[in-house]
Amino acid sequence: MGQTGLADIPVDVLRRLVREVTEAKSVDWDAQRGGVCPVCGTPHCRVTSTRSWEGRVRERRHTCLTCSHKFKSVQGA
Ligand SMILES: [Zn+2]
Repeated sequence: MGQTGLADIPVDVLRRLVREVTEAKSVDWDAQRGGVCPVCGTPHCRVTSTRSWEGRVRERRHTCLTCSHKFKSVQGA
């Protein structure tokens, strides 16, 4: 009834949103185990990029050596 619902959003826009939300999910950086893959649990996943500190957090991007999953870790100060 005049409301904007999900059905009004084009599918490609929804797909992009879902992908952004998925990629926004991050794991905690582990001082002992580094970036731990959220899919298969492999520790010390390869760091593909490291951002500088933003306030009290630092983000790293990883690629899992075992399952090739790409994910992000966040290190808190
Ligand atoms: Zn993995």
